[in-house]
Amino acid sequence: MIDLRSDTITQPTAGMRAAMASAEVGDDVFGDDPTVIELERRVAELLGHEAALFVVSGSLGNLLGVRSLVEPGGELLCDVEAHIVRHELGAHAAVHQVTTRTFSSDGGRVSADRVWALAAPDAGPYAVSTAAVAVENTHGGWGGVVQPHAELVELSRRCRAVGIGLHLDGARLWNAHVATGTPLAETAALFDTATVCLSKGLGAPVGSVLVSSRARIAQARIQRKRLGAGWRQAGILAAAGLYALDHHLDRLAEDHDHARALAALVPGAPTPETNMIMIPTSRPAVDVVADAAAAGVALTANDPHTVRAVTSLAVTADECVRAGQVLADLR
Ligand SMILES: *Cc1c(COP(=O)(O)O)cnc(C)c1O
Repeated sequence: MIDLRSDTITQPTAGMRAAMASAEVGDDVFGDDPTVIELERRVAELLGHEAALFVVSGSLGNLLGVRSLVEPGGELLCDVEAHIVRHELGAHAAVHQVTTRTFSSDGGRVSADRVWALAAPDAGPYAVSTAAVAVENTHGGWGGVVQPHAELVELSRRCRAVGIGLHLDGARLWNAHVATGTPLAETAALFDTATVCLSKGLGAPVGSVLVSSRARIAQARIQRKRLGAGWRQAGILAAAGLYALDHHLDRLAEDHDHARALAALVPGAPTPETNMIMIPTSRPAVDVVADAAAAGVALTANDPHTVRAVTSLAVTADECVRAGQVLADLR
């Protein structure tokens, strides 16, 4: 099977497994795990923030990051297709009493003006006040699009001027960085809190990292433990993340090349910006997914008339070409 369902399906490579097996570890709840400490130091530095917290999932990173910016009852604004409102099962409301309102966008690209049309930093006693805005980069729900840097700069400027927090869901910030050459810190430093995933295109089996100020990360560490997500010899997992940063970051460019090559073979498929191809279908997307599976290509239906293919280190250039040929015939 050529597996293009997601970049989460990657398996740890032999080199990564060796790094995990030989990792020096300690009790991370005591703050004693040298490999976790090294991963947190490294990611904080890469992203231009003071401190970092290694967590089990991107959803937990988002949950803790947003909570550090929004008090119970406060409002978070995000894109209508954001992972935070579509794929975290209501966690921000169910766990932290955060209310959300969504803004529309031009294919997932954030517009500071459209966010500002909704933002209400001080709404008084009759309406909910906006405490924070979240932006996803790349935007998975919209096919891995890269956020326009100038809009992020403008949004950050406006948020800081009125005290609205800004959170980056950067699960695939790595892909945006590799696609554009914009340094990770140049984007992440526009935000008060940011998350990145190690378990997507970077190929680690588990893990995400939240970055922010020292004070916010100290609070997030407490809240993580409160939620039962403190962990002990987590350095085994942090070692996979460090290995991924050393060996799998630059190679994301190959995934982007493979995605473009696949899309070029499928009439009607837009040219992907990163590692996701959104393919409009003339038949129900679930039928195309079933027929593609029968032909040896695993995909997902993104909506009733769009299928999504995601390239990663789990698929080769030749497999992507083969998948493109299969999909050209199936739409
Ligand atoms: C994958 C992903 C997350 C986190 O997902 P987990 O499965 O909880 O690790 C968050 N945001 C985006 C945009 C993602 O793609």
